Amino acid sequence: MKTFYADEQKRHAPKAFLSMGMQKPNPEQPERVERLLSGARAAGSTIHRPPSFGLGPIAAIHTPEYIEFLAHIFERWQRMEGASAEVIPNIHPFARNGSYPAGAAGQAGYHMADTACPISAETFDSAYWSAWSAVAAADAVLSGEPAAYALCRPPGHHAFADVAGGFCFFNNSAIAAQRLRGTGARVAILDVDLHHGNGTQGIFYARPDVLTVSLHADPSRFYPFFWGHADERGEAGGLGYNLNLPLPRKSGDAEFLAALDRASRRIQAFAPDALVVALGLDAFEGDPFGGLSVTTPGFSRIAEAIARLGLPTVMVQEGGYLCDALGDNLTASSPVSPARADRIRPQRGCARRDRTEARHRAASGSWRFASASPHWSAARTSAPGRRRHRPRHLPASAKAASGARCR
Ligand SMILES: [Zn+2]
Repeated sequence: MKTFYADEQKRHAPKAFLSMGMQKPNPEQPERVERLLSGARAAGSTIHRPPSFGLGPIAAIHTPEYIEFLAHIFERWQRMEGASAEVIPNIHPFARNGSYPAGAAGQAGYHMADTACPISAETFDSAYWSAWSAVAAADAVLSGEPAAYALCRPPGHHAFADVAGGFCFFNNSAIAAQRLRGTGARVAILDVDLHHGNGTQGIFYARPDVLTVSLHADPSRFYPFFWGHADERGEAGGLGYNLNLPLPRKSGDAEFLAALDRASRRIQAFAPDALVVALGLDAFEGDPFGGLSVTTPGFSRIAEAIARLGLPTVMVQEGGYLCDALGDNLTASSPVSPARADRIRPQRGCARRDRTEARHRAASGSWRFASASPHWSAARTSAPGRRRHRPRHLPASAKAASGARCR
């Protein structure tokens, strides 16, 4: 399996993090990259630098107003007398129905949900390359890879279309999903991060073409507080296309896997052509955030459950903070090496035809099983002789990803 990552993603090095009124070191540190790279290599993954894609895939999700803000706010902030070294807002609109301010301080409050995502001179570049890693992983799956991993840092799932928050600037999972959507494929996003994927939910909340499912610690008393509750089901045309599965604090493997079983049933009912996994590793029992109690073997069982969906999969790194097991948890969650993986061959034809076929198979209950290893780590951990799903083929080609449409 390929990992996509560019060294520019390490340049963003936020210093401050305001927690319960106290200034603390920001936990979203560049060192996370080294741990995650070693975890990916241990899983047999090869590391690839993403190509340049320009702003197009980012602008497909984020507003031009917000992209312009992120690109220039650091220089504008520094021109203010007495400004801090990092852009950190101190005022926010209590509702977003007022006017758009002209100045840097007002716009920072408008576009930044909290103080966890300070902006420095390097932030835009790092976020930009992080998004490109997600696009490259999506393109790899569109080209026939059964799975690909985007080592996205900074992470993305708390970023809305025009708001940064929770260490996130561009929503990499949403950008990957939209890239897959460009071929006509139906896409489900499964978010297994400790925190609710509020930005991803917000981006797709009124859309029926992307199913969003999130497992996370109960937000009643946990970040992001205002989103992630079970009664948030979507709106307008997207009503019924969002599923939140909040878990009591300190829930362990059994509770997480039970919720994942429910999530899997909803994903199967949507009959997607491809899956984006918003892969947070901060549900780990030893993560500094301490919200849930998933173990390292638990991540392998989560990977097995995801493998049973049998879908071409783009894994997008979200949270997971500095602790000794961070790399091991990625290894446990990762696909097997290409030599052991079932390979998806690109097919001619269009996503619509594949979708119809998928629905037929689902309706007839004739999901096919293969003796070959699936592309997730379930291959390493499943009992011998156990029947496994064959990953379904995604028909779109890289050419389709660049704009060609099926008819
Ligand atoms: Zn998280």
